[in-house]
Amino acid sequence: MVKIPFACTECHLILEDGVDMCPRCPSAKVSTDHQGYVIIMNASRSEIAKRLEVELPGKYALKVSNR
Ligand SMILES: [Zn+2]
Repeated sequence: MVKIPFACTECHLILEDGVDMCPRCPSAKVSTDHQGYVIIMNASRSEIAKRLEVELPGKYALKVSNR
């Protein structure tokens, strides 16, 4: 059985195992319904980071369903 981590619907951050609240946006909803996976190292140099409006390095989902 594969465990699906939560991803934040606000900043798309993929959360650690067992974490169900985004540390950056605690009021945002989290969802296991997400697609794609990207590791951003240097947000200022990354086109994907700009598209996702990500400013901090980390693991992000490309698409998060807000349901
Ligand atoms: Zn977030």
